[in-house]
Amino acid sequence: MTPQKVLSDRVREWAASQGICTAAVARILGISEMTLWRRLHGHCQWHADELLKLRGQGIQISDELFHALVGKEEGLRMSKPKPREEWIEDALCRRLGLQSDIFFPERARGSLPAKQVCRECPVRQECLADQLEYEARGTGQIAGIFGGLTPSQRAPLVRKIREARKEARKEKRS
Ligand code: SF4
Repeated sequence: MTPQKVLSDRVREWAASQGICTAAVARILGISEMTLWRRLHGHCQWHADELLKLRGQGIQISDELFHALVGKEEGLRMSKPKPREEWIEDALCRRLGLQSDIFFPERARGSLPAKQVCRECPVRQECLADQLEYEARGTGQIAGIFGGLTPSQRAPLVRKIREARKEARKEKRS
């Protein structure tokens, strides 16, 4: 069974167990029903942030499955953040004037308030891409909630970006 099929079956089983239709699943993922249909039928690749949302709903997606589903193009897409000045003014944490402490909780359990803010933030994807790019460079400290994800939730995305860049460099050389 292909990774796409494994995930499609899990999403369908989960939707059935929740008593929700595909339109509701698409809404949760923030994509159109047609896009969801295409993903479920293997006509286009899943985006990494969609897989994390599915994980967040309790659908089991192991690191192996995650890596099998997210392709090189997606790794490269994630590693190209928009310039910060284009989106920072819309950051909800900034607009609400929140203390940075809540985004750097001492324990994982304390991350809920920050995650709730990030969930409503209109520039969540931009924020996440910016942080992933920073972490993929491997030059700084990895901490805090960004784009609604903890450091351990971001780790598989960071690995994917590094792998995609490594492959791209190899292709360029050959
Ligand atoms: S996603 Fe969260 S941390 Fe990032 S800008 Fe929005 S509210 Fe702030």
